[in-house]
Amino acid sequence: MEINGRTRTCGLIGNPVEHTLSPMIHNTLAGRLGHDLVYVPFPVAGGSVEEAVAGAHALGILGLNVTVPYKSEVIPYLREIDPLARDIGAVNTLVRCVGGYKGYNTDMEGLYRAMRSEGIELDGQSVILLGAGGAARAVAYLCAVKGADRVWMLNRTLEKAQAVADEVNGRAGRNVICPMRTEEYAAIPDGRYLAIQGTSVGLAPRTQDAVIAENAFYEKIGTGFDLIYNPWETRFMQLVRAHGGRAYNGMKMLLYQGIIAYELWNDTRVSEEDAQAVYDRLARAAGR
Ligand code: NAP
Repeated sequence: MEINGRTRTCGLIGNPVEHTLSPMIHNTLAGRLGHDLVYVPFPVAGGSVEEAVAGAHALGILGLNVTVPYKSEVIPYLREIDPLARDIGAVNTLVRCVGGYKGYNTDMEGLYRAMRSEGIELDGQSVILLGAGGAARAVAYLCAVKGADRVWMLNRTLEKAQAVADEVNGRAGRNVICPMRTEEYAAIPDGRYLAIQGTSVGLAPRTQDAVIAENAFYEKIGTGFDLIYNPWETRFMQLVRAHGGRAYNGMKMLLYQGIIAYELWNDTRVSEEDAQAVYDRLARAAGR
């Protein structure tokens, strides 16, 4: 693209940002949709988030994505916040508004669109959720909001799972999240569940790790969805497939959280054809 005096800027703040795939998502969309827009990663040092947000606004930046470690830290510096992002306690997208930015969480809706695109439903489902960190917390909200019947939340640290369960169950007004220690999975009734892998175990470079390696666990899984996309096929996914289940990685979640952010910044709707074209580029970048 040719940058000119009217080119709008969007970007990413986080630390580190060197390995991000978000520029590929947004710059591909801008090219395909004919928008005069460029997307740039901005590394932000610890303690500088407030300055970064104010500086971005002063520079006329249209929108920002926010990544690790600032998804919660950025909240006090926003002019407005979407109620869902406030409930989740994490913001990954800032949309320019009068006097500052409005914060949204598109990770959660991105995961939902990714699951729907694979024919996975949450309504009335019983789900196993591995992890209780930032991402798993958002998934727990998603499951509650989209009508999951029950979520068995397994985590190494029970207290963290308990805290998420108390919060989400309180807001949902029903006991949907059941917190458990990971090693207690045998207490989950037999079945072929949807299992969402939301821990950081298995992420490159430790690609041979899985948070649970025992066969008995994978006999309970019909569909496995790992939030990790590097590696393309995680150990968790391999184990799900080895036990006859279907398995998906987190690349479509990444794709759709980006697409929803792009739609908010540009007040547009991205077609499935354009989404597929971006996905093909992401897959090629991952060596597929
Ligand atoms: P986080 O807040 O740091 O949470 C990490 C989780 O992993 C916690 O539940 C933690 O358990 C667990 N964990 C870490 N090391 C462990 C170990 N050795 N054994 C057992 N459990 C362990 O991280 P996050 O932000 O939620 O991210 C989690 C994953 O989601 C990451 O891999 C990230 O790449 C992925 N993600 C993907 C997308 C996407 O767009 N596809 C978006 C967001 C995140 P404790 O509570 O016991 O410490």
